[in-house]
Amino acid sequence: TGTPSPRFSYEWNTPMYTGKTTFNTGIFIDGKFRHGSDGKTIELVMSSSNGKFITSVAEATSKDVDDAVVAAQKAFDTVWGLNAPGSVRSEHLWNLAKKMEEHQEELAALEALDNGKTYSWALKADVAAAIQCIKYYAGWADKITGKTIETSEQKFAYTRHEPIGVVGQIIPWNFPILMWAWKIAPALATGNTVVLKPSEFTPLTAIRMCSLLQEAGIPDGVINLVTGYGHTVGAAMSSHMKIDKVAFTGSTLVGRTVMESAAKSNLKNVTLELGGKSANIIFDDADLDQAVNWAAHGIFWNHGQACCAGSRIFVQSGIYDEFLKRFSARAAAINVGDPFGKETDQGPQVSQNQYDRIMGYIKSGREEGAKVHFGGERHGKEGYFISPTIFTETKPEMKIVKEEIFGPVGVVIKFESEKDVIEQANNTEYGLAAAVFTQNLNRAIDTAHKLKAGTAWINCINQLHAQIPFGGFKQSGIGRELGEYALQNYTEVKAVHVNLGHKM
Ligand code: NAD
Repeated sequence: TGTPSPRFSYEWNTPMYTGKTTFNTGIFIDGKFRHGSDGKTIELVMSSSNGKFITSVAEATSKDVDDAVVAAQKAFDTVWGLNAPGSVRSEHLWNLAKKMEEHQEELAALEALDNGKTYSWALKADVAAAIQCIKYYAGWADKITGKTIETSEQKFAYTRHEPIGVVGQIIPWNFPILMWAWKIAPALATGNTVVLKPSEFTPLTAIRMCSLLQEAGIPDGVINLVTGYGHTVGAAMSSHMKIDKVAFTGSTLVGRTVMESAAKSNLKNVTLELGGKSANIIFDDADLDQAVNWAAHGIFWNHGQACCAGSRIFVQSGIYDEFLKRFSARAAAINVGDPFGKETDQGPQVSQNQYDRIMGYIKSGREEGAKVHFGGERHGKEGYFISPTIFTETKPEMKIVKEEIFGPVGVVIKFESEKDVIEQANNTEYGLAAAVFTQNLNRAIDTAHKLKAGTAWINCINQLHAQIPFGGFKQSGIGRELGEYALQNYTEVKAVHVNLGHKM
């Protein structure tokens, strides 16, 4: 483990970005890059050109997780936690945001290379929002306060919101740097130290960030990175006896096992951000052009690889035909291709596995009798590209209506009444988000309140802000990320009683 891992160098000379990067590809523990304890590596491949090798990165083991936890605990006990005042933590986070700004193009290019998302979206959405998130929690770091509480006795009591300790964070591949920021920013602002596992498919930006953390002056051991597989490293984290909390973003299936391991080990605190099958409801009186544009953003943004994707599009009967006509035209105008192309709207899916999974859903939709109204095929000859796809004539029990596809595949469902659509929209095990389009204010608010989801968008969809909480009802998760609410995920409340003269 003393051996430094290899450096990764890459040069882009593309229509959207010209630049280069070079950094270590090891795991990062206590401020040092190194190989995993058994010297193995994970090979990363490009999704846009069917498996072209990018680089290999160190594969961590459960032994490395142990080392990372020791480093995080040491940092918590010496330089962070109760040893770093909020104003100091705030300063560190501001410095980190500045470092990210200096490297924003490089980070966006890495994100496009590793994930296949378009460089332009990665830059203007993912990286920009990640920086915004760090700044937002930099603002909170010195504003974490408890309350004073009166009782009827001769007593003064107050609460302190203390950091939980060593936090394990496990993130997915669909928004690598954004999920990294959503996780580390509130954790650090509140004084916790971190052991983070990125997805084995997209670890590059999280690895790159390790050097930027050092350049920003964040002390060694405050953030430790263990790149590895879920069933080994992720499982070791959720069952670790010395990790005090685990925060997980990913599928509902894996979230369930994370919670089980947490319960069976040290009953660690758990927050989960899981899957979704969000409803997007469009009433007859909606601004149709806007509804069409937003609906396309709802399902095709990030190639449909969004947990909150508006994948069930309910359209009222009076505008159904016209909506479908304009929505198909909108889908046809989506430019699928090279993530670094100037005109590209949609790049490839992230991996062969995801490509096969999505094509499997399209096949099942056909087999179960739904109609492919648009798309439904591979795009091009190589790479994991899939045409934007619209299904109609579906039934509620079909897999494409019930399950999260996580690709550019939407179902359009006709509805008649408000009551009927709310029932259908809520008929899902998920409850992450929902959207409603109407120009009738009362109907908009009434529908938003009746939808069983952690987010209800009115006349927009897939809008996320550092200031506004995000998370799921039902099987879409536990706890909220972002906003002031996320601070609760990362603090323990301590009640202090001060006796002012009450005698025994
Ligand atoms: P996934 O559940 O397969 O993996 C997520 C992470 O968990 C990865 O880092 C993976 O290595 C790890 N993991 C896998 N098995 C594990 C185990 N047994 N123990 C611990 N960790 C394990 O999900 P994915 O395919 O990477 O991401 C897609 C899913 O994430 C979708 O379901 C999507 O809806 C969800 N997601 C949710 C949100 C949200 O905020 N609610 C945001 C993004 C993605």
